[in-house]
Amino acid sequence: MSDIKALVDGFSGFRNQYMKDSSGRYKGLADYGPHSRILVIACCDSRADPAIITNSSTGDMMVIRNIANLVPPHLAVSEFQETDAALEFASLYLELEHIIVLGHSRCGGVRSLLTRLIDDMVPDSALDSWMSVAEPAAKSVLADMPDASLDDQACACSRRALVASLDNLRHYPGVAKRLDAGQLQLHGWYFNLASGELQAWDEEGQEYVELV
Ligand SMILES: [Zn+2]
Repeated sequence: MSDIKALVDGFSGFRNQYMKDSSGRYKGLADYGPHSRILVIACCDSRADPAIITNSSTGDMMVIRNIANLVPPHLAVSEFQETDAALEFASLYLELEHIIVLGHSRCGGVRSLLTRLIDDMVPDSALDSWMSVAEPAAKSVLADMPDASLDDQACACSRRALVASLDNLRHYPGVAKRLDAGQLQLHGWYFNLASGELQAWDEEGQEYVELV
Protein backbone atom coordinates (compact mmCIF):
# COMPACT_ATOMS: atom_id res chain seq x y z
CA MET A 1 0.00 0.00 0.00
CA SER A 2 2.85 2.37 0.75
CA ASP A 3 3.87 2.27 -2.93
CA ILE A 4 0.37 3.35 -3.97
CA LYS A 5 0.24 6.04 -1.29
CA ALA A 6 3.51 7.42 -2.64
CA LEU A 7 1.88 7.70 -6.09
CA VAL A 8 -1.19 9.48 -4.70
CA ASP A 9 1.02 11.86 -2.73
CA GLY A 10 3.03 12.38 -5.90
CA PHE A 11 -0.13 13.31 -7.77
CA SER A 12 -0.95 15.91 -5.12
CA GLY A 13 2.45 17.46 -5.67
CA PHE A 14 2.00 17.36 -9.43
CA ARG A 15 -1.42 19.04 -9.18
CA ASN A 16 -0.05 21.79 -6.99
CA GLN A 17 2.88 22.38 -9.30
CA TYR A 18 1.20 22.14 -12.69
CA MET A 19 -2.50 22.86 -12.25
CA LYS A 20 -2.68 25.43 -9.49
CA ASP A 21 0.31 27.60 -10.24
CA SER A 22 -0.25 31.15 -11.44
CA SER A 23 1.00 30.42 -14.97
CA GLY A 24 -1.63 27.66 -15.28
CA ARG A 25 0.63 25.39 -17.30
CA TYR A 26 -2.28 23.10 -18.07
CA LYS A 27 -4.61 25.79 -19.37
CA GLY A 28 -3.04 25.62 -22.80
CA LEU A 29 -2.92 21.83 -22.78
CA ALA A 30 -6.48 21.00 -21.81
CA ASP A 31 -7.87 21.24 -25.34
CA TYR A 32 -7.33 18.83 -28.21
CA GLY A 33 -4.50 19.98 -30.42
CA PRO A 34 -0.92 19.44 -31.51
CA HIS A 35 0.84 20.00 -28.20
CA SER A 36 4.07 18.27 -29.11
CA ARG A 37 6.41 18.22 -32.06
CA ILE A 38 8.42 15.32 -30.65
CA LEU A 39 7.59 11.63 -30.55
CA VAL A 40 9.75 9.28 -28.48
CA ILE A 41 9.66 5.50 -28.86
CA ALA A 42 11.01 4.09 -25.61
CA CYS A 43 11.22 0.85 -23.68
CA CYS A 44 8.69 0.05 -20.93
CA ASP A 45 11.62 -0.16 -18.51
CA SER A 46 11.00 2.22 -15.59
CA ARG A 47 14.70 3.16 -15.55
CA ALA A 48 14.54 4.60 -19.06
CA ASP A 49 11.60 7.00 -18.78
CA PRO A 50 12.15 9.51 -21.61
CA ALA A 51 10.45 12.42 -19.83
CA ILE A 52 12.55 11.92 -16.71
CA ILE A 53 15.93 11.39 -18.37
CA THR A 54 15.46 14.43 -20.63
CA ASN A 55 14.08 16.53 -17.80
CA SER A 56 11.01 17.27 -19.94
CA SER A 57 7.73 18.74 -18.89
CA THR A 58 4.14 17.74 -19.45
CA GLY A 59 3.05 18.29 -23.05
CA ASP A 60 6.63 18.21 -24.37
CA MET A 61 6.54 14.81 -26.04
CA MET A 62 4.26 12.05 -27.22
CA VAL A 63 5.59 8.67 -26.11
CA ILE A 64 5.17 5.14 -27.44
CA ARG A 65 6.49 2.57 -24.99
CA ASN A 66 6.95 -1.11 -25.66
CA ILE A 67 9.34 -3.84 -24.63
CA ALA A 68 12.81 -2.97 -25.99
CA ASN A 69 11.65 0.17 -27.87
CA LEU A 70 11.15 -1.74 -31.11
CA VAL A 71 9.60 -0.51 -34.34
CA PRO A 72 8.36 -3.56 -36.26
CA PRO A 73 8.56 -3.63 -40.05
CA HIS A 74 5.55 -1.90 -41.57
CA LEU A 75 3.10 -4.41 -43.01
CA ALA A 76 -0.23 -3.60 -44.65
CA VAL A 77 -1.89 -6.21 -42.48
CA SER A 78 0.03 -6.60 -39.28
CA GLU A 79 -0.47 -8.15 -35.90
CA PHE A 80 1.49 -5.19 -34.53
CA GLN A 81 -1.17 -2.54 -35.17
CA GLU A 82 -0.53 -0.60 -31.98
CA THR A 83 2.69 1.00 -33.21
CA ASP A 84 1.15 1.61 -36.63
CA ALA A 85 -1.83 3.41 -35.07
CA ALA A 86 0.35 5.55 -32.81
CA LEU A 87 2.64 6.56 -35.68
CA GLU A 88 -0.35 7.37 -37.86
CA PHE A 89 -1.85 9.49 -35.10
CA ALA A 90 1.42 11.36 -34.53
CA SER A 91 1.88 11.98 -38.26
CA LEU A 92 -1.68 13.18 -38.76
CA TYR A 93 -2.48 15.12 -35.61
CA LEU A 94 0.83 16.46 -34.34
CA GLU A 95 3.06 18.93 -36.10
CA LEU A 96 5.67 16.24 -35.85
CA GLU A 97 9.28 17.36 -36.40
CA HIS A 98 11.33 14.73 -34.56
CA ILE A 99 11.04 11.03 -33.77
CA ILE A 100 13.55 9.68 -31.27
CA VAL A 101 13.97 5.94 -30.79
CA LEU A 102 15.40 5.70 -27.29
CA GLY A 103 17.29 2.52 -26.49
CA HIS A 104 18.99 1.67 -23.23
CA SER A 105 21.54 -0.70 -21.72
CA ARG A 106 20.67 -3.70 -19.52
CA CYS A 107 17.37 -4.20 -21.36
CA GLY A 108 15.50 -7.20 -19.97
CA GLY A 109 13.57 -7.72 -23.20
CA VAL A 110 16.76 -7.95 -25.26
CA ARG A 111 18.33 -10.24 -22.69
CA SER A 112 15.32 -12.59 -22.87
CA LEU A 113 15.67 -12.79 -26.66
CA LEU A 114 19.38 -13.56 -26.53
CA THR A 115 18.88 -16.17 -23.82
CA ARG A 116 16.18 -17.88 -25.87
CA LEU A 117 18.39 -17.98 -28.96
CA ILE A 118 21.48 -19.16 -27.03
CA ASP A 119 19.47 -21.93 -25.34
CA ASP A 120 17.82 -22.78 -28.67
CA MET A 121 14.34 -22.55 -27.18
CA VAL A 122 11.16 -22.49 -29.28
CA PRO A 123 9.31 -19.14 -29.01
CA ASP A 124 6.13 -19.78 -27.07
CA SER A 125 4.97 -16.56 -25.47
CA ALA A 126 3.73 -13.07 -26.30
CA LEU A 127 7.12 -11.73 -25.20
CA ASP A 128 8.95 -14.15 -27.51
CA SER A 129 6.67 -13.18 -30.38
CA TRP A 130 7.21 -9.45 -29.85
CA MET A 131 10.97 -9.78 -29.39
CA SER A 132 11.23 -11.66 -32.69
CA VAL A 133 11.24 -8.18 -34.26
CA ALA A 134 14.82 -7.88 -32.97
CA GLU A 135 15.86 -11.39 -33.96
CA PRO A 136 17.99 -10.38 -36.98
CA ALA A 137 19.98 -8.00 -34.73
CA ALA A 138 20.37 -10.67 -32.04
CA LYS A 139 21.49 -13.35 -34.50
CA SER A 140 24.06 -11.02 -36.06
CA VAL A 141 25.48 -10.21 -32.61
CA LEU A 142 25.70 -13.89 -31.64
CA ALA A 143 27.50 -14.60 -34.92
CA ASP A 144 29.92 -11.68 -34.55
CA MET A 145 30.53 -11.86 -30.77
CA PRO A 146 30.03 -15.51 -29.76
CA ASP A 147 32.46 -15.32 -26.83
CA ALA A 148 31.40 -11.95 -25.41
CA SER A 149 29.54 -11.71 -22.11
CA LEU A 150 25.75 -11.72 -22.21
CA ASP A 151 25.79 -8.08 -21.05
CA ASP A 152 28.05 -7.04 -23.93
CA GLN A 153 25.97 -9.05 -26.40
CA ALA A 154 22.79 -7.42 -25.08
CA CYS A 155 24.34 -3.96 -25.40
CA ALA A 156 25.37 -4.64 -29.02
CA CYS A 157 21.98 -6.17 -29.80
CA SER A 158 20.10 -3.15 -28.41
CA ARG A 159 22.22 -0.83 -30.53
CA ARG A 160 21.73 -2.85 -33.73
CA ALA A 161 18.00 -3.30 -33.10
CA LEU A 162 17.72 0.46 -32.63
CA VAL A 163 19.25 1.08 -36.07
CA ALA A 164 16.88 -1.50 -37.57
CA SER A 165 13.96 0.28 -35.91
CA LEU A 166 15.03 3.57 -37.51
CA ASP A 167 15.09 1.82 -40.89
CA ASN A 168 11.65 0.32 -40.29
CA LEU A 169 10.26 3.72 -39.27
CA ARG A 170 10.99 5.15 -42.71
CA HIS A 171 8.48 2.77 -44.28
CA TYR A 172 5.44 3.88 -42.28
CA PRO A 173 3.35 5.98 -44.69
CA GLY A 174 2.82 8.99 -42.40
CA VAL A 175 6.51 9.06 -41.47
CA ALA A 176 7.66 8.62 -45.08
CA LYS A 177 5.42 11.48 -46.19
CA ARG A 178 6.83 13.91 -43.62
CA LEU A 179 10.41 12.77 -44.36
CA ASP A 180 9.89 13.35 -48.08
CA ALA A 181 8.54 16.84 -47.35
CA GLY A 182 11.60 17.65 -45.21
CA GLN A 183 9.38 18.15 -42.17
CA LEU A 184 10.75 15.36 -40.02
CA GLN A 185 14.06 14.13 -38.60
CA LEU A 186 14.71 10.68 -37.13
CA HIS A 187 17.05 10.16 -34.19
CA GLY A 188 18.43 7.04 -32.52
CA TRP A 189 19.57 7.59 -28.94
CA TYR A 190 21.15 5.03 -26.65
CA PHE A 191 21.12 5.61 -22.90
CA ASN A 192 23.70 3.74 -20.82
CA LEU A 193 21.93 3.59 -17.49
CA ALA A 194 25.02 2.33 -15.67
CA SER A 195 27.39 5.10 -16.80
CA GLY A 196 24.83 7.84 -17.47
CA GLU A 197 26.07 8.36 -21.04
CA LEU A 198 23.71 9.31 -23.86
CA GLN A 199 24.81 8.51 -27.41
CA ALA A 200 23.24 9.20 -30.79
CA TRP A 201 23.36 7.11 -33.95
CA ASP A 202 25.29 8.95 -36.66
CA GLU A 203 23.79 7.75 -39.93
CA GLU A 204 26.57 9.24 -42.01
CA GLY A 205 29.44 7.85 -39.95
CA GLN A 206 27.56 4.62 -39.18
CA GLU A 207 28.53 4.83 -35.51
CA TYR A 208 27.24 6.00 -32.14
CA VAL A 209 28.60 9.34 -30.94
CA GLU A 210 28.39 10.99 -27.54
CA LEU A 211 25.57 13.51 -27.20
CA VAL A 212 26.55 14.74 -23.75
ZN1 LIG B 1 14.37 -2.21 -22.20
